[in-house]
Amino acid sequence: MDILKERILREATVVNSGVLKLDSLLNHGVDPQLTMEMGKEFARRFGDEHVTKVITVESSGIPVAFATALTLGVPLVFARRKKTLLGDADAYIERVPSFTKGIVTDLIVSRHLLDSQDSVLFIDDIIANGDAARGLLKIVEQSGAKVAGIGIVLEKSFQAGGKALRELGYKFESLVKISSLEDNSITFE
Ligand code: 5GP
Repeated sequence: MDILKERILREATVVNSGVLKLDSLLNHGVDPQLTMEMGKEFARRFGDEHVTKVITVESSGIPVAFATALTLGVPLVFARRKKTLLGDADAYIERVPSFTKGIVTDLIVSRHLLDSQDSVLFIDDIIANGDAARGLLKIVEQSGAKVAGIGIVLEKSFQAGGKALRELGYKFESLVKISSLEDNSITFE
């Protein structure tokens, strides 16, 4: 998406060679119109996958996942993230490392929100190592539902997540790929 590339060049800052700060669009603020365009693009790319539900992780994935779900006309589920866990028999739980926070968190989805008949599209803001995606896909698969695909706004293709998930055979689409953040500059693939 060229418009997204332009906005990234204008508004993102390179924190270091592995991390991009994109608060105005993805991680703190939301441009509703651009977010709807992203949702429509995901809906177009996954339109043939018989998606019955969109799933994401709180909080940065929610706006674009909402836009995708709205366009596809299906419900949205977002996994909660918690630092400590007392156990919950009514929920699916996966422990994953958090790329930006440097801690481990638990992804939690109530069992009644996923059905074995579902075909679930995972949407998220950014992929780095793919830990959040793998955790959430495990939850979807535990429920007996099918993974319809994975849609990511920004793939840092110099990190392993996207490649690893494609190799596992999932339909994987990213709207923008960044191949390097070296020398304080953003290089698109
Ligand atoms: P992963 O689990 O793929 O390693 O990391 C994915 C999660 O970490 C995403 O939900 C995203 O919010 C966050 N993340 C990964 N890389 C970046 C980054 O460069 N900048 C920001 N702001 N968040 C990131």
